[in-house]
Amino acid sequence: MSIHVAARNDDVYDRLESSVRSYCRDYPRSFAKASGSTLFTEEGDEYLDLLAGCGALNYGHNHPRLKEELMAYVMADGLAMGLDLHSQAKSRFLEAFERCVLAPRSLDYRVQFCGPTGANAIEAAIKLARKATGRRNVLAFTNGFHGCSLGALSLTANGHHRAASRSLLDGVVRVPFDGYLGKGVDTALYIEKLLRDPSGGVDPPAAIVMEVVQGEGGLNEAGKEWAASISRLADEVGAVLIVDEIQTGCGRTGTFFAFERIGIRPGIVTLAKSLSGFGLPLAAVLVRPDLDVWKPGEHNGTFRGNCHAFITAAAALETFWKDDALTKRIARSSAFLASELEKIAGRKGARVRGVGMMIGLDFGSSEVAAAVKRKCFDNRLVVENCGPSDEVLKLLPPLNILESDLKRAVSIISDAVDAV
Ligand code: PLP
Repeated sequence: MSIHVAARNDDVYDRLESSVRSYCRDYPRSFAKASGSTLFTEEGDEYLDLLAGCGALNYGHNHPRLKEELMAYVMADGLAMGLDLHSQAKSRFLEAFERCVLAPRSLDYRVQFCGPTGANAIEAAIKLARKATGRRNVLAFTNGFHGCSLGALSLTANGHHRAASRSLLDGVVRVPFDGYLGKGVDTALYIEKLLRDPSGGVDPPAAIVMEVVQGEGGLNEAGKEWAASISRLADEVGAVLIVDEIQTGCGRTGTFFAFERIGIRPGIVTLAKSLSGFGLPLAAVLVRPDLDVWKPGEHNGTFRGNCHAFITAAAALETFWKDDALTKRIARSSAFLASELEKIAGRKGARVRGVGMMIGLDFGSSEVAAAVKRKCFDNRLVVENCGPSDEVLKLLPPLNILESDLKRAVSIISDAVDAV
């Protein structure tokens, strides 16, 4: 089978693509192929990929089993787009999700399929929490990131993203995440005081929206006790705890959901990014049954039935989440990464941040972080920065990355840090 690839013409981007494009500015090559943890440029140069579709490729590029299942499904004329019709692909996904994710964790959620992006899932989640509680106000955290559509953006803290819509972003009260005011200050106590005080000035919230590990915001981990306090407080004040697992989910922090480590039961959970396992657009909102107060079709949308994504998502769950092999592998790779990054950090006065396979180096300087990222790219490693001022080098390797590739990635980062 031959694939037509348009002749290379970089000028086409300057002429035709909006100036909003971003990743391509940091990694200015044209990529043609990808396999596992490797990207191949049009010229055939290889790059190790620790960006992994910004966490949308937890099982790497073009995983052979997922690809085979998708190809077989397409070749058999399987339904490609299905609105929210019943389909073989959707039932297979739902059954796999129940068998591999919900049942082993004794979780009782209904699955709402929304539009295919993370922001779509967040929009649905906050709308549902507002409808279920009859309240408007939502609490969101400093350094939180939840997407760029208007409702999601009202929760997102980053000023760069908020700027164009600032005057329209309402209905949200910003509260300090764990550690925001320094180690000695328990911000959960402050939030509790605000909500319990009839004169605290904060209306009873419909929801508290939390990332257990803040991805874009700088790899900030919520302490176990702190997150458990926020969960308890949400229950006590009649708010829905929405845990955003769009970046942390599908194994990124070591367990399928990051909230598992804390032992909490959110009312609503959002998933997207790696849910399809193949980089196909698919998002879902997990809803505790008593909160599933939607009327049929009330939160509608055309693209809520991406059958190709259902097929790869089911195959990914059946491949990676039927037993604990991946979890053990993540634990080994994370331990290796953490200890190697500690050594590098020690040489440069940086700090290791993050959990599991979303881990990185906080240089406390956007210039240093940018220089390290550039140097890594010069040496054929794609890795990104995050944090309020992009001062953190963020590693998001595929969870099944080969040990040899991980070692090579660490060595490139080490050399880059020494060179800047
Ligand atoms: N929530 C979190 C935690 C994210 O990291 C992101 C994207 O990075 C989103 C929501 C938004 O997802 P999307 O870019 O698919 O809209």
